[in-house]
Amino acid sequence: MADKLDTLNEIWVFIEQARQEINMSSWELLGEARRLASDIKAKVAGVLLGSGVESLQEEIFNRGADKLYMIDDEILKDYRTQTYASGLFEIAKKYMPEIILMGATVTGRDLASAVATHLQTGLTADCTQLEIEAETRLLKQTRPAWGGNVMATILCKDHRPQMATVRPRVFEEAIPSNGSKGELIKETISMKEADVKTKIIDYLPSEQEDVVELENAEVIVAGGRGLASQRNFDMLSQLAEMLGGEVGASRPVIEMGWMPFPHQVGQTGKTVRPKLYFAAGISGAVQHLAGMQHSNVIVAINKDKDAAIFNVATYGIVGDLFELLPEIIKAVSEYKSTKK
Ligand SMILES: Cc1cc2nc3c(=O)[nH]c(=O)nc-3n(C[C@H](O)[C@H](O)[C@H](O)COP(=O)(O)OP(=O)(O)OC[C@H]3O[C@@H](n4cnc5c(N)ncnc54)[C@H](O)[C@@H]3O)c2cc1C
Repeated sequence: MADKLDTLNEIWVFIEQARQEINMSSWELLGEARRLASDIKAKVAGVLLGSGVESLQEEIFNRGADKLYMIDDEILKDYRTQTYASGLFEIAKKYMPEIILMGATVTGRDLASAVATHLQTGLTADCTQLEIEAETRLLKQTRPAWGGNVMATILCKDHRPQMATVRPRVFEEAIPSNGSKGELIKETISMKEADVKTKIIDYLPSEQEDVVELENAEVIVAGGRGLASQRNFDMLSQLAEMLGGEVGASRPVIEMGWMPFPHQVGQTGKTVRPKLYFAAGISGAVQHLAGMQHSNVIVAINKDKDAAIFNVATYGIVGDLFELLPEIIKAVSEYKSTKK
């Protein structure tokens, strides 16, 4: 299998679901797979594993999949590495697609490495850019390397399928269109419950209060070194709360211990794509922009009129954040009270 290069001309996207809810990264990958497929005239296929998931097919076809490979089995009710890896390995081995893409989520990272090992093929984890060389059909898989100091482009020349996990929020979601049809291919899994080493006893949602969901936030109020101290982040938290958003930060803020790492935006932090990204006291270094420049609307406050953040800002305010932020908080508060 390792040297089998005559593959089915298909790009597969692993459709990640938990409790019949599809992870947004799958829609982003369907959008990207469609773009890549046009370069090599390939088909785009979703691969769905789970229990009671057949009803999800309509949404998957509406998001642009030409085909859907599905294993619907009680053994796949909850994610377990062993069962999911076995199911995905079996169908990948049977059909041998050209490419398999998965979200670089907790599940995607775990599953992709197990499946790549079974398939004896290469895997590039946490990609931030994908391209296809039309003549060779090689997937150019780009990701930060050496602590983010270089961008490495990795090729899988001798093994198939070519496998990559992709950082959530790097690509735009495939736009849904109603009534799309595709081909459903139902498959089965040979593994039996008695063969599975892990048993799910119960499902308990996390009780952790401070879960930072930057990737899914619609509004992010981010601060940089210009905030000058940890205390001043209270202003950002207040504004974020009023706008129903999360607080983001640049790397120096994390390094100085003003905010914990899950709040970091950028090349070595999180990639985000909110409707509104508010950047206060952030200069706009390339490594920060890499994580937020695809936000829909970017509002930047900086006292330096030449700050690079203004190159990507939709609205730029040149001024002192210590004067402007309290004014903005007051204005939002007044606006909200008129809406009550
Ligand atoms: C390999 C590598 C990976 C990296 N990864 C990341 C990453 O993931 N994320 C990231 O953010 N950075 C990352 N960095 C660091 C990056 O290069 C920058 O150093 C960092 O983004 C700068 O943060 P900053 O904008 O908060 O600080 P600064 O560059 O110091 O900017 C502070 C800004 O605040 C403004 N300011 C100061 N006072 C006020 C005021 N009172 N009112 C208004 N504006 C004010 C200043 O004009 C300035 O523009 C990385 C660097 C390397 C080498």
